[in-house]
Amino acid sequence: MSAGKKQKAATAVPAAPVAKLLRKVLIANRGEIALRIVRACQELGVRSVAVYSDADAHAPHVREADEAVNIGPAPSAESYLKGDVIIAAAKRVGADAIHPGYGFLSEREWFARAVRDAGLVWIGPPAEAIAALGSKTAARTLAVKHGVPVVPGTTEALSCADEAVTVATKFGFPVLLKAAAGGGGKGMRVVRSAGEMASAWDAARNESKKAFGDDAVYIEKYIEGPRHVEIQILADSHGTVISLGERECSVQRRHQKMIEEAPSPAVDVDLRRRMGAAAVRAAKAAGYVNAGTCEFLLDSTGEFYFLEMNTRIQVEHPVTELVTGIDLVQWQIRIASGEKIPFPSEIEPRGWAIECRLTSEDPSNGFLPSTGRVDYLHVPSGPGVRWDGGIETGSVVGLHYDPMLAKLIVWGATREEAVSRMHRALLELVVDGVETSREFHLRVMEDADFKSGAIDIQWLERRLESLLGSAPDEDALQAAAIAATLVADRDRRGGGRTSAAAAAAAAPESASAWARRGRTDGLRV
Ligand code: ADP
Repeated sequence: MSAGKKQKAATAVPAAPVAKLLRKVLIANRGEIALRIVRACQELGVRSVAVYSDADAHAPHVREADEAVNIGPAPSAESYLKGDVIIAAAKRVGADAIHPGYGFLSEREWFARAVRDAGLVWIGPPAEAIAALGSKTAARTLAVKHGVPVVPGTTEALSCADEAVTVATKFGFPVLLKAAAGGGGKGMRVVRSAGEMASAWDAARNESKKAFGDDAVYIEKYIEGPRHVEIQILADSHGTVISLGERECSVQRRHQKMIEEAPSPAVDVDLRRRMGAAAVRAAKAAGYVNAGTCEFLLDSTGEFYFLEMNTRIQVEHPVTELVTGIDLVQWQIRIASGEKIPFPSEIEPRGWAIECRLTSEDPSNGFLPSTGRVDYLHVPSGPGVRWDGGIETGSVVGLHYDPMLAKLIVWGATREEAVSRMHRALLELVVDGVETSREFHLRVMEDADFKSGAIDIQWLERRLESLLGSAPDEDALQAAAIAATLVADRDRRGGGRTSAAAAAAAAPESASAWARRGRTDGLRV
């Protein structure tokens, strides 16, 4: 590890003037990220406008925003993906700008362009930068041209399965077929031999066509056991581009991130600097402005390879916020307002942050999506705990949208402290009415590999069965069931407020469900 100039984030963040140009921002999104953006607007003194589908009429992001506009029925194709309806709504309410959040329309070049053409400010990178980086093959071409190392493979889409076999033989099996338009782990297939190619080719193309309306597929060498490490960048419209350090996102299931942290246990000051410089180079080459993320694979020898650039705010942005002290969503708005980035080009992370994505999926049942009404929600708190959520008691979780309900994020002075704090916070969390991934996250925080930081992108798939098979202690479960019943009894006598216990009293099976989830902390009541 080389020495290098160190800057403490605490001294790097100046007292911030309020964004000047923008007065009213329409948020083209829903759930936790919409609420996150509402909060950033409030702190900047900018008015916020929520949009919502019929299914979200009573959602927290709608209530918390200064104004709200209904944009159609529940299916996202008829509401949150209706760019023209959203732009018309923004004009109608007199918004100056649109913040797209992540997902939905956030990385659609045509939407960024249409917003600009409508005379509104787009809180994101220019449409041209989205176009340059939007397709994985185009981004690889750009990276190669600017000296950013990429995973060996093609920069062109392939024409047929036979060509794929020829190319794969050249690079050596295993290879990964990837959708050029890909995202969210879709349109990807590992191919370990020539015999597997034909069916993998069809599967990758069909999945890509269905998900992105585009069946272009290319090949990358499949790297065994790397980490997913990504660099957060910020770029302003005055030519400054800086790196805010890395996030480790190797805890993945089916190529989708489940737990993220900052910094990475595998990155030292020197590697951070080199990866940061590569990310800044890629961003500059694309004419990037605003917040963006450069994703890399990091192999066990310390070599890193560019994967893609995400041209939006990421789900996992809070871990970077906690270790740098920089509010990324506020800075997206400030940059779109024309402000200059005031931070030094190198920021050393302070402490350790971990994020768990809480989804409405049942880990004990193959992560099957779960739907229903959130009968009771208890949000963890205490030192170093942050909750970015889109649900509350009474929320109805359906199948129309992404299953991510909330993000639980913690900060600790060290990684060990952060892991232990996350475990404590997860024990405090209660979500009754829908199954969630809480139990899964608890098991990960207890895992020896995870605790030591010895993880790679295939680690979770290898460990999943044994992780979920480690059933909680039976005595503890029974004690928790008794505790839940006692609390129910106390609450019933004490008045009619809704609580886990009240719900348990109304529906006795809820108490055992509570216990099943290993809430031994109920004994403290
Ligand atoms: P998407 O845009 O669909 O998320 P990415 O290119 O970001 O696709 O890759 C998603 C995940 O798939 C990565 O985080 C990594 O775990 C895995 N992956 C992608 N490319 C490779 C590769 N060449 N070798 C091994 N794993 C890969």
